[in-house]
Amino acid sequence: RAKLASNSYSQKILLDGNRDNAQIGTENATIVMLVRNWELDSALESMRSLEDRFNKKYRYPWTFLNDVPFDPEFIEATSLMASGATEYGLIPKDDWERPSFINETKFEQSLKEMIESNVLYGESRSYRNMCRFNSGFFFRQELMKKYDYYFRVEPNVEYYCDFEYDPFKIMRLNGKKYSFVIALHEYEETIPTLYDTTMDFFEENPQYLHPNNSKFFLTDTSMMANHAIKVDVPNDYNLCHFWSNFEIGDLNFFRSESYLKYFEYLNQAGGFYYERWGDAPVHTLAAALMLDKSEIHYFEDLGYFHGPFGNCPSSNGIRLQKRCMCDYSDESVIDISSHSCLPRWWKTGGKTFLKDKGVL
Ligand code: GDP
Ligand code: MN
Repeated sequence: RAKLASNSYSQKILLDGNRDNAQIGTENATIVMLVRNWELDSALESMRSLEDRFNKKYRYPWTFLNDVPFDPEFIEATSLMASGATEYGLIPKDDWERPSFINETKFEQSLKEMIESNVLYGESRSYRNMCRFNSGFFFRQELMKKYDYYFRVEPNVEYYCDFEYDPFKIMRLNGKKYSFVIALHEYEETIPTLYDTTMDFFEENPQYLHPNNSKFFLTDTSMMANHAIKVDVPNDYNLCHFWSNFEIGDLNFFRSESYLKYFEYLNQAGGFYYERWGDAPVHTLAAALMLDKSEIHYFEDLGYFHGPFGNCPSSNGIRLQKRCMCDYSDESVIDISSHSCLPRWWKTGGKTFLKDKGVL
């Protein structure tokens, strides 16, 4: 008893007594982290970085999600690291576990094949649950229902620069629904049929395909000389996707009829288990095909690292002004390297002028 009392910092005393965690930022938004109890230290690293670089000025609430209950230690340390309020949600079994319509034999067979061909996380059942959850369920968790915008954070990431603005506000004022900082190529073996399944969906539901979509980002082109006129000819999926460990997005996009129908189509196709479909290409295909390209935003000036890749503002002036702690010439900076899809995004032309950058 005495041990418990001396060991346990009372988060209540600290939060109620000494600290004002009332929200200052004016957007209806949360920072969300899906995380396991044993990742506490890395979760705190990410939190420390994002709090110092952005959130301590705004005190947006944090939402933590887990497929098992959070430990008291996890709750205590993260609620003290957060400048704003914190909430902890337990994911319902149906949103996490492999659905019963997945054929057991076929699933086991595909696991075996992926292990044999050394696919990253090929052996993991929980990774597949996680990818399906992030594709179809994070935005409909009970704790998320009250919010319009989310900022996804993972353990062990770093934000290199001061934000200097409220990214949620930027999203709303500029009509942005999805944003990214790193775009790269997916491992082909994890999604052999995802693109074709997606095309089937849009063939059956053409009304969901946005007329000003970003399909150009998803398909490489071969330049064909045709009587001295160069013509872009779209090929198959080029595997380009926005890296979803960083996302700031509009939850109402994911809750829209079009996205929900798309997710259910993929879910029924079974590729989250028969293959190893990641939530990153799923979110990307949806955003690129269902949104106006001007609704997708590339946050070029935040600076971010999630191993093994990072992004760092290329302008020395911006790096100095925003107190960035990154080296643009570092080999982890993906930007315009050959595995980056950023040049493809620039060519796609999703750029728009941003309003109200300097305002709280
Ligand atoms: P990677 O970034 O693709 O290498 O995968 P991570 O291991 O970082 O997982 C992605 C995100 O899902 C991270 O936020 C993890 O903490 C979280 N995550 C992965 N697997 C599980 C799991 O089984 N349970 C919970 N609660 N979170 C998980
Ligand atoms: Mn990760």
